[in-house]
Amino acid sequence: MTLLDIDGLKTYYGADDGWVRATDDASLSIERGETVGLVGESGSGKTTLAKSIIRLLPDNAEIVDGSIEFDGTEITELSDKELRRQIRWSEISMIPQNAMNGFDPVYTVGDQIVEVIRHHEDDTSKAEARERGRELFDDLGIDPDRIDDYPHQFSGGMAQRAMIALALALSPSLVLADEPTTALDVVIQDRILETIKEMQEELNSAMIMITHDMSVVSETCDRIAVVYGGRIVELADAETIITNPRHPYTLGLRNAFPDISDDDQELISIPGSPPELVDPGEGCRFAPRCPFAEEECWEVTPQPESYGDGHQVECHRADEIEHLQAEAGKKET
Ligand code: ATP
Repeated sequence: MTLLDIDGLKTYYGADDGWVRATDDASLSIERGETVGLVGESGSGKTTLAKSIIRLLPDNAEIVDGSIEFDGTEITELSDKELRRQIRWSEISMIPQNAMNGFDPVYTVGDQIVEVIRHHEDDTSKAEARERGRELFDDLGIDPDRIDDYPHQFSGGMAQRAMIALALALSPSLVLADEPTTALDVVIQDRILETIKEMQEELNSAMIMITHDMSVVSETCDRIAVVYGGRIVELADAETIITNPRHPYTLGLRNAFPDISDDDQELISIPGSPPELVDPGEGCRFAPRCPFAEEECWEVTPQPESYGDGHQVECHRADEIEHLQAEAGKKET
């Protein structure tokens, strides 16, 4: 059953030189309990897409077009008050990139968890909310007595776990996890990802996992949306994205993580940097970096084409990708 249906979403930031088209015509739907990865380089628009869903955008951002339907409710039409009361934390929660920024430094972590629970559950007493916080801490491997600590008394890994506790405290149907482990060291990263997955499965929450790390999404996600220049350029189940991608950018991303790529496939590298998102104009945004770009790519913005089983690709040359890859391989050898 569809939980979230994003259609033609455009979220732009006002800047001195024009609109930054950070999310530009994105469409994506998510089933209950499903995990979808948003993967792409820094600045591709992943966070903007996630923050649009929970409407936690900065003041200079505007949702200029499109719809976000969550469980039958049109998110873009809710007032801030309705959103806080009905949706944020209780139905959709977010684990931010850096948990320390998610907590208010002047209150204890426990008080903040109690506050979020009681804001949504009138009948829950302070003592009950606190007990739930302690149980979540315990589940997440934090000593429950640390609930009375202030955020600055936590290590980065503990703060991230506490943020996960907060994000899961009201059993939301959708969790937005924005690079939940990048600020942490590698050993802790794996443990935290495992914990998030376990808790998510227990609650049967859907999750959007944002990362630039292809190996993280390949291990944790059912489907993967590859984001480039504010657009979802390829969308498919995780296995297809890893073993049979059709967008040249996905090929390049995958090859940046050689441990997940198939040895038989030719490696395509992607030099260059992400595109300018202020008035990017017509044409494929990846064309300047694409080894296979031809005239049409520079002039016409590709639209999503279906390749069966929910596999969608925005690329004029997606039909020819295997041949193009093989040719590129021959030239290199
Ligand atoms: P990262 O992994 O670095 O967070 P991202 O893929 O999540 O990157 P976004 O943070 O969504 O990308 O940024 C998308 C684009 O929007 C970038 O070009 C960025 O510079 C721009 N942007 C983000 N926030 C603002 C803002 N408040 N004002 C203007 N432009 C912004």
